[in-house]
Amino acid sequence: MPEIQLHNTLSGTIEPFTPLHAGEVRMYTCGPTVYDYAHIGNFRTFVFQDVLRRFLELRGYRMNQVMNLTDVDDRIIANAAAAGKSIREYTEKYAQAFFEDCRALSIEPPEHYVRATDHIEDMVALIERLQANTYTYNSEGSIYFRIAKFPAYGRLSKIDVSGMQAGARVDVDRYEKESARDFALWKAPKPGEHFWETRIGPGRPGWHIECSAMAMKYLGETLDIHTGGIDLAFPHHENEIAQSEAATRKPFVRYWLHAEHLLVEGEKMSKSLGNFFTLRDIFGKGYKPSTVRFLLASVPYRKQFNFTFDGLQQAASSADRLRNLSARLTEGKFPAGGTGAFALRVRSADEEFEAGLADDVNTARALAAVFDLVRETNIAMDKGEFRHEDTAPVQEFLAKFDKVFAVLRDDDEEKLRSLGYGGGQGLSDAEIEAMIARRNDARKRRDFAAADRIRKELAERGIILEDTKEGGVRWKRK
Ligand code: AMP
Ligand code: ZN
Repeated sequence: MPEIQLHNTLSGTIEPFTPLHAGEVRMYTCGPTVYDYAHIGNFRTFVFQDVLRRFLELRGYRMNQVMNLTDVDDRIIANAAAAGKSIREYTEKYAQAFFEDCRALSIEPPEHYVRATDHIEDMVALIERLQANTYTYNSEGSIYFRIAKFPAYGRLSKIDVSGMQAGARVDVDRYEKESARDFALWKAPKPGEHFWETRIGPGRPGWHIECSAMAMKYLGETLDIHTGGIDLAFPHHENEIAQSEAATRKPFVRYWLHAEHLLVEGEKMSKSLGNFFTLRDIFGKGYKPSTVRFLLASVPYRKQFNFTFDGLQQAASSADRLRNLSARLTEGKFPAGGTGAFALRVRSADEEFEAGLADDVNTARALAAVFDLVRETNIAMDKGEFRHEDTAPVQEFLAKFDKVFAVLRDDDEEKLRSLGYGGGQGLSDAEIEAMIARRNDARKRRDFAAADRIRKELAERGIILEDTKEGGVRWKRK
């Protein structure tokens, strides 16, 4: 099996991956800030880390993974205060929504989901270690990290700190991306804001310290892999390295993996630009959870990718093609026997699938291997050349594919129902139009099985289609 190669942001190169502890991968993933629903840009990063995790599991590694929920930051404190709620009351709704969204996207739960507000004591202890090692200074009740004392600062993000103004401080949770400045480890309480009474004084933690404290608490002082979106490399991850290594004097993370952004019309999808879709917006338009997962997983994580509804339609068609083949394999009657040649063909697809994923999680390469085989299998079936004994190897390969991609199981309806979409409720016009567009697309590809499935699905949900003489489609509710 090809050795796993990963791109390490720290070295800027592709490196062979071996964990520090044989058989076990210790991985930390920066999770969501739970002040609102996550958008599908966020989920690009979360689906990426899930594909990576599942691939490592496929390779037989035991995972020990931590994902945090940032449940204390400037926006959360302000929004909670405005809503007259405690931090926990305010964030819990979004934390639960995040878990539901992850379930919808078949993102495996990490071994530890951890909340910043449950780890204040760990953060205080880490800040005390930094104080003992003289990396900190106090100013107006806040405690700052002195970047000038940590020469490796900037190595991850390749930020040049030479022109940095010594002692320039920042204590807001949102940073400008260009300048390195001493950052707040601990923030003095502001009037009317929630604070904790601790050994290092009253206040609340800065954003960065939570990840260092929680990562090291559950995974030890040196972790194998740390993931996040590329926007976190600076300053967040740079600060995590500085805090952790200044305290332990050991390397904090061996492999840093950063996912590129999901874009909308060339710009980063983000809350602040207002150009975002939540998962729920997408479900409301009639798309399935598996379609979104397929789309987000299909583009290799180090490539930026532009979100479009066309892309989403294509992802739906691709996932349908896989499900159709899977159904054909289970339901089809094929002539007895087998030549063994097909098993060899499956083996080469399997090797290329493995090689693609081992190649820095190149999902596009892995999927190309899968779809080549799907096409050839369908052709062989159509020509009557596919034999009964050929089914098992193809089915086994699809099952293996799905351990990583997790899109074959047809549980979309169930998931949507549990989120309050579809099922007993009527489809919206937009949902119906989207399904019809997918059916048209399938017909254009001459994938009549997929087209029929969509027609049947619509019929089950009370929608009748009429094909017009002009080649169009009319629909009405029963
Ligand atoms: P946040 O909730 O803002 O802390 O973000 C959660 C995760 O989503 C982080 O790893 C971010 O880097 C990542 N992220 C934010 N926007 C995007 C985007 N447009 N594309 C991909 N990842 C993103
Ligand atoms: Zn983090």
